[in-house]
Amino acid sequence: MGKSVLARAAEPRGWDEALLLDAGLLAESDHALTMAGVGLDAVVATFGTPTFVYNTDVIAERYRCYVTAFAECGIPLRVRYAVKANSNVAILGMLASEGAGADIVSGGELARALHAGVPPADIVFSGVGKTTTELHEAMGHGIGAIHLESLEEIGRVAQVAGAGRYQIDVGIRVNPGVMTETHPYVSTSQVGIKFGIPLDQVAEAAQAIEAAPGLTLTTLGIHLGSQLFDVAPYVDALERVLTARAELEERGLGTSLRILDIGGGLGVRYHKESPITPSHFAGSLAPLLKRSGLSIQAEPGRWLTAPAGVLLTEVLYRKHSGGKDFLIVDAGMNDLMRPSLYRAYHHILPLVAHPGTPRPVDVVGPVCETGDWIAMERSLPPLPSGSHVAILGTGAYAFSMGSNYNARRRPAEVVVSQGRMALARRRESYEDLYRGESPNPWPSSTDRT
Ligand SMILES: *Cc1c(COP(=O)(O)O)cnc(C)c1O
Repeated sequence: MGKSVLARAAEPRGWDEALLLDAGLLAESDHALTMAGVGLDAVVATFGTPTFVYNTDVIAERYRCYVTAFAECGIPLRVRYAVKANSNVAILGMLASEGAGADIVSGGELARALHAGVPPADIVFSGVGKTTTELHEAMGHGIGAIHLESLEEIGRVAQVAGAGRYQIDVGIRVNPGVMTETHPYVSTSQVGIKFGIPLDQVAEAAQAIEAAPGLTLTTLGIHLGSQLFDVAPYVDALERVLTARAELEERGLGTSLRILDIGGGLGVRYHKESPITPSHFAGSLAPLLKRSGLSIQAEPGRWLTAPAGVLLTEVLYRKHSGGKDFLIVDAGMNDLMRPSLYRAYHHILPLVAHPGTPRPVDVVGPVCETGDWIAMERSLPPLPSGSHVAILGTGAYAFSMGSNYNARRRPAEVVVSQGRMALARRRESYEDLYRGESPNPWPSSTDRT
């Protein structure tokens, strides 16, 4: 990854060392884990637990690595960071200062991106269910483009553009009908799922867009799914999209197309996976991308931020039940949903190396659901109550998927960089939990009955 902290470290000897390298973590035998030169024990002492920590040095470096990979193939890449992966405005602001735009999927993400200082022109709006209000807001702020996902949505966008006299660039998110090998919940490109406009409706969509006065068709795009480890589906899908474009041209359509959007989806290492590198990814797609003659845009999310985050949590109790050992920690499924939702693996490291013999334990949270688990049968040393662990790979789809279930306050988020730490979001207060609620919501003239 270029002239980086990571590259200067030794080659990883195994998947567990590779995970440390990916996160910019350093584990020296009798010291607490450090991240970007900051002791994670100091983060715990200052901000408590549970707390997410993001290494912004690593995120910036991964961003540059991604862009450079395409540049080295002669492709200037526009990045629209997928905000849903990690939408903390400190992360969005940092990425914007590196040159990234934003790929948003809601009015809330639009507000976050604008608040973080992402230039409106660098924002694209994706998603299958944009509301009229959200479309108004997006066009009112002059965002770069709206990516359309159904024929009916074209009519809605045209209506909103007409009412507000907006001129808006739009893209067609094509569902290319290719299979990807990932968790079914994050596969978004097969025939018969809700995402994108199917290939056989692309011409009709282009025609409808070109007939609408305020709309200009600038982009054809795909987003195949998430946590992908193979370039073949991208090649397959992009070939299909370029064929569709050729068919549009034959019919005199799509003459205003300027951009080809390859989506996100590049996979990361959570455990023993072997992710493809951006240079392999870019190199494999380059001939096809160049042949298109279009400007290339990508929407990475997970790849930029997932490895750069850890969730710090405290061991509350140990317990033996039904022949099993449990480690009860103060982070739960409301803070980190991926294990419950996808049966996802997240590596767990004690903040300070523990001499005891590792034994399999189930690491579970305090939430009143049996599905509230962080790790099953994980080999860990006998960590006493009051000790702390770091849950790796939690820089994406972690805090952003979190909830307040069980009236749990959402954790603090801390950024670390070059030996310094800063609070990027304070831990929620109890008042935050019932803001906007009232024990007696009836107007004062009415009785409580
Ligand atoms: C979620 C999403 C992405 C990002 O996916 P990652 O796997 O996090 O890279 C990109 N584009 C769209 C339209 C998305 O919905």
